[in-house]
Amino acid sequence: MNHLSSQDPEIYAAVEQEVHRQNYGLELIASENFVSRSVMQAQGSVFTNKYAEGLPGRRYYGGCEFTDVAEDLARSRAKQLFQCDWVNVQPHSGASANAAVYLSCLKPGDTFLGLDLAHGGHLTHGSPVNFSGIWFQPTYYGVENDGRIDMDRVRDKAKSVHPRLISIGASAYSRDFDYEAFRTIADEVNALLWMDMAHPAGLIAAGVLNDPLPHAHIVTTTTHKTLRGPRGGMLLIGRDFENPFGKVAPKSGRIRKMSELLDSAVFPGMQGGPLVHVIAAKAVAFREALQPEFISYARQVQKNAAVMAASFLSRGYEVVSGGTDNHLILVDLRSRNINGRDAEHALQSAHITVNKNMVPFDDKSPFVTSGIRLGTAAVTTRGFQETDIESVVTLIDRVLSAPTDASVRHKVQTEIHALCEAHPLYDFVTA
Ligand SMILES: *Cc1c(COP(=O)(O)O)cnc(C)c1O
Repeated sequence: MNHLSSQDPEIYAAVEQEVHRQNYGLELIASENFVSRSVMQAQGSVFTNKYAEGLPGRRYYGGCEFTDVAEDLARSRAKQLFQCDWVNVQPHSGASANAAVYLSCLKPGDTFLGLDLAHGGHLTHGSPVNFSGIWFQPTYYGVENDGRIDMDRVRDKAKSVHPRLISIGASAYSRDFDYEAFRTIADEVNALLWMDMAHPAGLIAAGVLNDPLPHAHIVTTTTHKTLRGPRGGMLLIGRDFENPFGKVAPKSGRIRKMSELLDSAVFPGMQGGPLVHVIAAKAVAFREALQPEFISYARQVQKNAAVMAASFLSRGYEVVSGGTDNHLILVDLRSRNINGRDAEHALQSAHITVNKNMVPFDDKSPFVTSGIRLGTAAVTTRGFQETDIESVVTLIDRVLSAPTDASVRHKVQTEIHALCEAHPLYDFVTA
């Protein structure tokens, strides 16, 4: 980074400090991961200079011949990875991909059904402060006392609210989904079924979790969580179909495919020019995810999460749903003498990064919360195995058992530093 360091020392210093933080801190935020240097090189390339509104072969600007190569590679690799008919790799983020679904499937005021945000759902699934809850009418299903979704309760809810769209997907749900049962319910109430696999996409790509693509009408994802690509979003359809709203193509009068509605929802519906440099980096990440090593990675992520849940349970912590199927766990701290906010702060000062999170039936506000959410995707990328995870839980327990004791935090910090040094991440820091 010699240009940046000489021309803009202030930003360079921030980058350098961030490299250091990532190298020597313990990253347990469930939505984060570490990309390869190839992903970063593609993302840092001259494709950032290019306007490319439209799709490959059908652009509004000239000079897109190499952009088309990059986007076509991203699309074909994504289709191979998820075994599906159609993808759009242009959404700038998971939230933009989701916005394209609403724009294609609902009119303002229409009712949809999704997972309760207080039970693990995402802001874009109907929060009153998000466009999804401002412009549409959200209704919710939740989890039961055992922390799991009960499909009979989902069916009852769907029959009483008659949603036009049912969403699956969460940012804090540690169990797998029964997509077949969701599809049966969607068909019974004549709703479209949409899966937002933002969190587990990498595990789904690797085949270690159930596959939503054969069952959901539409799938959205981020590319930067377990999928380990650049920050971004994507739309997918397993088997393309005629849109059920009777929308026709302007000249021919032909019924348009659902994929065509989603393409137009992304552009010109939602976005201007695509981020071509990010699309190139998505292509690189999809190629990585197609390698056999990625399947081993995904299996290890899942094993590490299972070990993490078991270690917390054996130390007397409560884990929502009693364990995990995927990469994340939600620890319910109500039986301990600490809330989520204070736990997050205490751990941060020991260089362990987690986030406070509501647990189902939480009595505390979203700013305080009764839980913490932890994920194993990032630490597994840097090579953590089961025994390392057990050490991590021991260290977390030491901090949470004495959250105000600065000497404990200091000792834990030193051990975290050693653990990170044993699993090097990025070697390009200069200082
Ligand atoms: C992370 C996440 C998103 C949003 O992704 P951004 O890229 O941050 O916009 C959407 N849905 C779910 C379920 C998520 O977990």
